Amino acid sequence: MAEKKDYYEVLGVGKDAAAEDIKKAYRKLAMKHHPDKNAGDKNAEERFKEVAEAYDVLSDPQKRQTYDRFGHAGLSGIGAGYGGFAHFDMDEALRTFSGVFGDSIFDSFFGDIFGRRRGTSGARGSDLRYDLTITFEEAAFGTKKEIALPKADLCEGCRGSGSAPGTQRRVCPQCGGSGQMRSVQGFFSIQRTCNYCQGMGSIISHPCPVCAGAGRVRKRKTISITIPGGIEHGDTLRVQGEGEAGERGGPPGNLYVVIGVEPHPIFDRHGDEVLCEVPIPFGVAALGGEIEVPTLDGKARLKIPPGTMSGQIFRLKGKGIVNRRGHGRGDQHVRVIVETPQKLSRHQRELLERVSEELGEKQYPRTAEFNAKVSKLTNK
Ligand SMILES: [Zn+2]
Ligand SMILES: [Zn+2]
Repeated sequence: MAEKKDYYEVLGVGKDAAAEDIKKAYRKLAMKHHPDKNAGDKNAEERFKEVAEAYDVLSDPQKRQTYDRFGHAGLSGIGAGYGGFAHFDMDEALRTFSGVFGDSIFDSFFGDIFGRRRGTSGARGSDLRYDLTITFEEAAFGTKKEIALPKADLCEGCRGSGSAPGTQRRVCPQCGGSGQMRSVQGFFSIQRTCNYCQGMGSIISHPCPVCAGAGRVRKRKTISITIPGGIEHGDTLRVQGEGEAGERGGPPGNLYVVIGVEPHPIFDRHGDEVLCEVPIPFGVAALGGEIEVPTLDGKARLKIPPGTMSGQIFRLKGKGIVNRRGHGRGDQHVRVIVETPQKLSRHQRELLERVSEELGEKQYPRTAEFNAKVSKLTNK
């Protein structure tokens, strides 16, 4: 399989390119390789899809950040094209194209050149956004979630066509089936989309009884979402084709699931690493011992060597968050805080006083070092 090309290279821009430059680079390349200007040229077609995919990622700050950090693999959970071997399909690439150029450009400049795409189907369905909150642990290891959302979905009575089963559409009486109307404005002959059939060239003769010809119906749909381990707060998952159904059999929009991760009462997270602070009794710090620490996998034992200082950090290998690129798991870092006992009994107090008198300055290396610095200052 061919290695996927770097998105920045595809657009011929630097890693630090501004959004405006990325857009400019895309505009230039997309115009050059547009399939309607390069009919039958497979290379141009591939390039067109490639630049659309690259632009789709680099123009979205969230996706761009993910790509910068994790490469192609970071986007693989997000949807079609990214990460896998398949590139954007042509519909996807054309949607990106019209998203940037807008439809007006077709009518005013490229009515003829780009007109071919008109009439194939109805408008694309809207994208939907769903905010989904998951726990710290679910984000760490990944999970599957079912979400129910109300949306306009494909009508099953007519599979989106809008025609009653067994009936045929008939030729549009206004445009005679071309989907286009010509009119003359000044020197120009301008081609417009037929407004009677919306450019489809045909009209519904017998509307579907379920959707009354709309091709879609509103319903509550349950969708299962696979959330990859290592996902972070604010990441967006794209579920291809689960937005609203298109009009009159047009392509569906996408569903964007924006992930929120609940904070954890004990753990903090930095990328794949988990951090936590654990208090230990001052006796254990001085004498050494073993303590129990919480991890994402349950409790673990941690050896505390004699003479441990407050703030010292210990590492539990492989107890962190699942790596999005499949590089195993990060580590857990345990920062120990030495705790001083409070409310001493008389007997305890006497014992501690004896110990304290016994201990010389050398046994407190930090204190000794600090005192040396201070005395240098005062003797100046
Ligand atoms: Zn028509
Ligand atoms: Zn229907």
